[in-house]
Amino acid sequence: MKGAKLTINLSALQSNAKYILEDVKRTSTKKDSGVIAMVKNNAYNLGLAKVADSFYKGGIRFFATTSIRECEAIRDRYSDVHILCVNPNTEFDFMREYGITATLPSFEYIQENYEKMRDISWHIEWAGYMRRSGCRSEAELRNILEFAKSKGIKIEGLWTHFSWADTFDKEKNYEKERDEWIALLKNITKDYSFNYIHSQNSAAFSRDGILPNHTHIRPGILLYGYYPHDRYENDKITPSIELSGEVISIIKLSAGESIGYCSSFVPAENTFVAVVNIGYGDGLLRKRGIGHDVIINDKKYKLVSFMMSHTVVKIDEYVYMEDSFDASEKIIRVNIENSDVKVGDTVYYYNKELPLHEFTKKGVGSCSEQMSPLNYSTLEVEYIR
Ligand SMILES: *Cc1c(COP(=O)(O)O)cnc(C)c1O
Repeated sequence: MKGAKLTINLSALQSNAKYILEDVKRTSTKKDSGVIAMVKNNAYNLGLAKVADSFYKGGIRFFATTSIRECEAIRDRYSDVHILCVNPNTEFDFMREYGITATLPSFEYIQENYEKMRDISWHIEWAGYMRRSGCRSEAELRNILEFAKSKGIKIEGLWTHFSWADTFDKEKNYEKERDEWIALLKNITKDYSFNYIHSQNSAAFSRDGILPNHTHIRPGILLYGYYPHDRYENDKITPSIELSGEVISIIKLSAGESIGYCSSFVPAENTFVAVVNIGYGDGLLRKRGIGHDVIINDKKYKLVSFMMSHTVVKIDEYVYMEDSFDASEKIIRVNIENSDVKVGDTVYYYNKELPLHEFTKKGVGSCSEQMSPLNYSTLEVEYIR
């Protein structure tokens, strides 16, 4: 018996990085434009070292993460890259020694710490609508810039993170926060210049392309091969993960006979189901379960029950593939004697035909939410090139 398996495609990561980098360089009006690759949380749980190496091979020379331990791990691999720690912190000696680009979150911060801030590259954070840190008014921003100038603190960048980029709402909150930021940049760049201006995650870049005055974009999920929404969908981005289990038994249920905890599935008529050796304990989101599709031998089937280490698939009906992900999914009934599902068959939960973003559209959760719980202690993990 094979275990449930996670396959991570490193050449997909590399080619996504290369494509997005070229797209930004082609469309930006700035000479030194580029991509800051977001690799927080162990590179969205795919493994920081291997992911960073793949992005590096794709041409990425600027990384960002939230944790200084991850900044250190990247610096230990590469001396010729920029590394931005987006979380404000006070590890001044470490950031100086490791050449980490640091976030300057407020006027208060620079007033308190300026004596320790020399010889570090600083990017000022603008709070925008996110407000988890960052300066809150143009006056505060100007105070920081003047104070920094008087104390010899090197301000190299200005950035923000849009809180509404992944959401399309009637009030157009994303457009509001974006336009306020663009207006701020227009004003502030009359009096100060920055080597780095960046704000856009994958969703914001997909909506607008690189924004005026910006030197960089700061995507995560697009680099991992998933579209935050359908504005940027093309065939250039390759999904990086494949998640599969194996059929461990095939069960015949008579009408009214249940399977799973608390009779989670009770068929109205005689039904065949396959039990698969993967469940929420392996990091598969419960919402990804019941009612959604898996692929066995190139046909789509529906999940009907979900347990910690097992999932149950109804195998005497399959989804007609051409109509999949469409409201009008056509269900084909098969006589079980003719079914090609057998014990030992591979059952795909995520692959190129079942990319994470299709489940985001169906309300399962964002792509990063689906990726980050995958359990490396229970899954057999394979990196491929
Ligand atoms: C996570 C994150 C990103 C990347 O977001 P995606 O939606 O994955 O592109 C960019 N900037 C910051 C500050 C982040 O925390």
